Amino acid sequence: MSDPVMVDHYAVLGNPINHSKSPLIHRLFAEQTEQDMTYSAICLPLDGFIVGLAELHAQGFKGMNVTVPFKFEAFAACEQVSERAQLAGAVNTLIRTDTGWRGDNTDGAGLVNDLTRLVGDLAGKRVLMLGAGGAASGVVKPLLDAKVDQLTIANRTAAKAADLAARAQHLRVNGCGYDVVPNQPYDIIINATAASLAGDLPPLKAGWFSDAHCLAYDMMYSKEPTVFMQAAQTFGAQQTADGLGMLVEQAAEAFYLWRGVRVRTAPVYHALLES
Ligand code: NDP
Repeated sequence: MSDPVMVDHYAVLGNPINHSKSPLIHRLFAEQTEQDMTYSAICLPLDGFIVGLAELHAQGFKGMNVTVPFKFEAFAACEQVSERAQLAGAVNTLIRTDTGWRGDNTDGAGLVNDLTRLVGDLAGKRVLMLGAGGAASGVVKPLLDAKVDQLTIANRTAAKAADLAARAQHLRVNGCGYDVVPNQPYDIIINATAASLAGDLPPLKAGWFSDAHCLAYDMMYSKEPTVFMQAAQTFGAQQTADGLGMLVEQAAEAFYLWRGVRVRTAPVYHALLES
């Protein structure tokens, strides 16, 4: 048995948090790579994130994942943040320092790794992203780093899409409302809106899905195909996927930041599908 004093402690912070798959994912990563660590799910009060985080630091926690609704507060609470977190304006991974926390955002790397698993190299792909919230903000730079040819960001509140595109300062990115997105084929269409959570859809155009190799990707994940995946299939999308792979991949990036060890994600993804 390992000495409990020597074991490193990690957690995911959110509210609510009891649905989180992160404890299972990190337990499987730790078993696979034989790391001595614990990983728990902690629900912090909506008005108690900063106090809770300070207590966990005092208790010696080595790292945190942060989920809804605390990603922006976590960003503000960090002593320093990575460039990708800076561009996202949000933090999903905290790494302990002697005096506080260093922040990073692994959502984008998680998405890029999962898209690459599904369609191969992303270089040259035409990408349409629906939504301009926290999750969308985190994936713009990693998509550009993966050399996508064109990234159009469409959002219900058009100004937020335009702002996000402007922050990227890149010729290949533009942001707009849904009405002005041309009815033309894209290689990859990412649903980064929260609409699926309520069984809703952003306003889709059939022509977006008409490419022979079109992948329609919903960041939300669920047991059954999401409403977005179902609609994309109706419009002729050749391939659809939900965000379970992204969840596993962003966790693997966080695990690497904490432990310096790369995990094999495929067995963990399949274990989650079966669980
Ligand atoms: P936010 O609340 O930050 O952003 C929500 C976005 O959805 C905004 O762009 C909003 O538009 C849009 N939206 C909400 N409802 C509708 C609607 N009915 N029709 C059209 N647009 C709508 O959420 P997040 O960015 O944090 O999360 C977005 C999704 O990504 C969620 O489903 C979440 O579960 C998923 N996610 C998955 C991850 C994974 O690892 N798989 C990681 C992170 C998130 P507006 O600006 O106009 O309000």
